[in-house]
Amino acid sequence: MVVTQLFDTIAMSGSTSSQRYAQVALEQGIDSSSTGLTYSIPESLSDIAVGDRVIVPLGRRNEQVSGFVVELTHHSDIAHVKSIVGRDTHSISLTPDLVELARWISNYYCCPLGMVFSTMLPAAVKRGTGLITQLWVRRKPDIPAEITSKKAGHSKLQIAVLAVLDTMEKEGRTWGEIKRVADLAGARSVAPVKQLIAKGYLESRQTREIHADWGEEAPRLESARPNHVLTSSQAHAIQKLAASVHQGFSVHLLHGATGSGKTEVYLRVIEHLLQEYGKANSAGRKDSENSQPGAIVLVPEIALTPQTADRFVGRFPDVAVLHSGLSGAQRHEEWRRIREGRARIVVGARSAIFAPLPNLGVIIVDEEHESSFKQDQLPRYHARDVAVKRGQLLNIPVVLGSATPSLESYYNVTVRGSYHLLELPDRVAGLKLPAVEIIDMGQERRKRQGVHLMSLRLEQALQTTIDEGGQAMLMLNRRGYANYLACPDHRCGWMMGCKYCDAMMVYHKDARLPVGGLVRCHHCEAEQLLPPTCPNCGRRVTTFGLGTQRVEEELQRKLPSVRFIRMDSDAMRTGKDYQRSLEAFRNQKVDVLLGTQMIAKGLDFPNVRLVGVISGDTSLHLPDFRASERTFQLIAQVAGRAGRGDAATPGLVIVQTFKPDDAVIGLASRHDYVGFAKREIALRKEVNLPPCSRMARIVVRNTNQVTCHAEVKKLADQLAAANQAQGNHVRIRGPMPCPIARIADHFRQQIELFAPDAATMQRLLTAVRNAKALRSDNKMAVDVDPVSLL
Ligand code: ADP
Ligand code: ZN
Repeated sequence: MVVTQLFDTIAMSGSTSSQRYAQVALEQGIDSSSTGLTYSIPESLSDIAVGDRVIVPLGRRNEQVSGFVVELTHHSDIAHVKSIVGRDTHSISLTPDLVELARWISNYYCCPLGMVFSTMLPAAVKRGTGLITQLWVRRKPDIPAEITSKKAGHSKLQIAVLAVLDTMEKEGRTWGEIKRVADLAGARSVAPVKQLIAKGYLESRQTREIHADWGEEAPRLESARPNHVLTSSQAHAIQKLAASVHQGFSVHLLHGATGSGKTEVYLRVIEHLLQEYGKANSAGRKDSENSQPGAIVLVPEIALTPQTADRFVGRFPDVAVLHSGLSGAQRHEEWRRIREGRARIVVGARSAIFAPLPNLGVIIVDEEHESSFKQDQLPRYHARDVAVKRGQLLNIPVVLGSATPSLESYYNVTVRGSYHLLELPDRVAGLKLPAVEIIDMGQERRKRQGVHLMSLRLEQALQTTIDEGGQAMLMLNRRGYANYLACPDHRCGWMMGCKYCDAMMVYHKDARLPVGGLVRCHHCEAEQLLPPTCPNCGRRVTTFGLGTQRVEEELQRKLPSVRFIRMDSDAMRTGKDYQRSLEAFRNQKVDVLLGTQMIAKGLDFPNVRLVGVISGDTSLHLPDFRASERTFQLIAQVAGRAGRGDAATPGLVIVQTFKPDDAVIGLASRHDYVGFAKREIALRKEVNLPPCSRMARIVVRNTNQVTCHAEVKKLADQLAAANQAQGNHVRIRGPMPCPIARIADHFRQQIELFAPDAATMQRLLTAVRNAKALRSDNKMAVDVDPVSLL
C-alpha cells in the first residue's frame, strides 16, 4: 500500500516514463465532467505537464482540437486510447493552481471545464496575436578569427561583411537590418551574406517574439511614495495583514470608510511581501528568479478607476495593468510577462483573477461589493469568490476591501466567523465624512410649479459651491432622457413598450435627428425614431420619468454659466472618453460631473465639495431582494466622493427622494453601514435569502412560449425528484416567468433554488447535471450565487 502510494506521488509530480496517459479538457466544452478525456502520451512528449495546452484528435474523423492537460496518470480504464498529437504551437501552459481552480469553477458554477479554460486564457494568447517571426543572422561563435581572412578563400565583400558584423555587435542582426550591413560593407545586395551562411561562417536563426505597439505612455499621476503618517487604524490593518503573509490561507475584510486610505493599506502590504522576500533571499535562501512572490489587485473597472491603477504603477517597478483598452498584442505580451515572472503585480478587472503568476503571494479585491465582479455569461463566476478559492488553493491571504461590504462578506465575518474584520472607521488626515441632507421631493413638488429634477436647495447649493471655487457631482442612475413614452390621455392608456421585450422603451434625445430623438430598449438595444403621436388616438405623445440627459438640460437652463460633463455609457464610448473627461474634471476645466453610477466609484478629487443624488429611489423598488443593499451602496459610495480635500472645507451631500422616511436612505445618510447590515441581515434571515442561504437560479429561454413552458416544467420535475431522493434540503421556487418575461423575442421562465449551504446546493445541481437534465447553453442558463435577478 505504502509502495503504491509513493509511486502515485512520483507519477503525479514529475515526468517519469510511467505517466503514459493524460486527461485532457477540450476547449470546445463538449465534456460536461471536470475530468476531461483520456489520451496517451507519446515518447516524444514525455515531459508534458499539468496545465500544458495540447492538440488532440477528436471523433471519428480525428479532427485536431486543443485542450489542456488536467491530470497525468499511468493507467487507463479505456482499451483504445488515442494519442496526443503535440503541444500547441505557442507552448502555452497554465500554472497548476489555475488548473485546479478551473476544475472548481467548472463544478461550482456548472460550466464545461474546457470553457472555463477558454475564459482563463485571453484569445490573443491562444491566437498568438502580435507574434512576429524574426530571422537573425550572426557569426558562428566557434569559428576562429583568422579563418575569416583572405587566406580562407573569401571574397573581398565577404570579408568586409564579416568585419562590419564584428564591429557592430555580438548578438546578431535581424534579416531586416542585414541590408544595412551589406551597404556598409560596400555590397550592392545581401548576396555575400547569403554566401557566408551557405559556407557555414554565419548562421541564421529564427525567433518568435511578441511585438506590441505601446504608443505613447500615459502620464502618471502619483509616482513617488507619499510620506503619509499612517492613521492608527491603517497601521493596525497593515500590521495584521503583514503578519498573515506567509502564514497560509486567510480572508480579511477591510471595511474602511470612503477616503480612509484603503489603497495605501494594499500598497504597503504588497511592499511588505516584496521586502520579506528580499530579506529571506539575502539570508541565503536559494530561490530562482521565478519564485519572487507577486500580487493580484482586482478593481471593478480600470477605465472608471484609473487613479487606483496609477498608484500601483507609480509605486512598483513591474506592474501589469490589464484593462479593456489593450490591443490583442499588448494583452498577449502582458500575459507572457506575468507567466514568465517578469511582471509580478497585476492590476485588473474581473478576469485578472486568472493572471498566471508563477508565485502568487496575496490577492486583493478592491470594492469587493461591486456587481461587475460577477460575469453574466458562461462561466458565471464571481471574481471575488474565485479570488477566495484561489487563495485557499495556494494557501495565501486574500484581502477584500470596501466602504460598503457585500452582505455576503459581512455575514462571513459576523455570523460564520470565517473572515477576519479590519476596520478603518475614519477618513485620513482628519477629514470628516460629509454631512447628508435629505430633500423630500414630494413636498418640493407641492411647493413649486412645473417639473424640476433639481430641488431649490440643490440648485442653490450648486451655485454657492461653484461661486466659492468648488466642484460638484450629480448622480442619477438612469441614462437617456425619459424612461416612459405615453399617450397623455389615460383613457387611451398607450405606453411604448419594446416589440421584442417585456420592457418600456427609453427616450434618448438627439438634436441631430429631425424628430428630436429616438427610443431605445435597454434590454435588446432595439431602437427607432421617436413616434410623434400616439398610434391609437393620434395625440402628441408625452414623456415622463427621468434620465441623465434631462438633468443635463435642466442644468443648462437653470445654471447656464456652469461648465459640466455628462458621464454615462451613452456619452462615453471608449476608455479614452472617460480619461479625457476625468482629466478635465481633475484640472478644474469643468465644475460639475453629471452621471450614472459610473461616477460613484472610487474617484478621489479633493475639490469636490458637493454631491447631489437626483433620485435616491431609482433602485429601491426593483424586483430584486438586493434592492435595499444596492440603494445603500450607491448613496454611500457617491456621498464618499465629497469633502476629500482639506478639513476646513467639509463636504455636503444632498439626497433627493420621494421617501424621506425610508430606513435605508436614512441609514445611508448617517453613513451607518453596520446599522444597515444588521437590519438587512435580520430581514434576509426571516425569509431565508442569501447570505443566510445559498441561491441558484436557472433560466430557460425559448422563442416558442409552449416549448419554454414544457422545458422548464420538465426540469423542475427532475430537480424535485433529485431533491427528494437527497432528503429535500433545497427549497425550489417556480417554475415562474422571469421578472422580465421576454427579452429579444425569447420567452423566459425561471426556477429559483435556495439551499442551507453551498455543499447541499452542489449535491443537487451535480445530480441533475449528471443526469443530463441540466445544461449550460443558449436555451438554459444556470446561475449559482446570482447577482442579477431580472
Ligand atoms: P480609500 O481607498 O479608502 O477611499 P485612498 O487610499 O484612496 O482611500 O486614500 C485617499 C487619499 O488619502 C489618497 O489621496 C491617499 O494618497 C491619501 N492618504 C492615504 N493614507 C493617508 C494618510 N495616512 N495620511 C494622509 N493621506 C493619506
Ligand atoms: Zn427590447
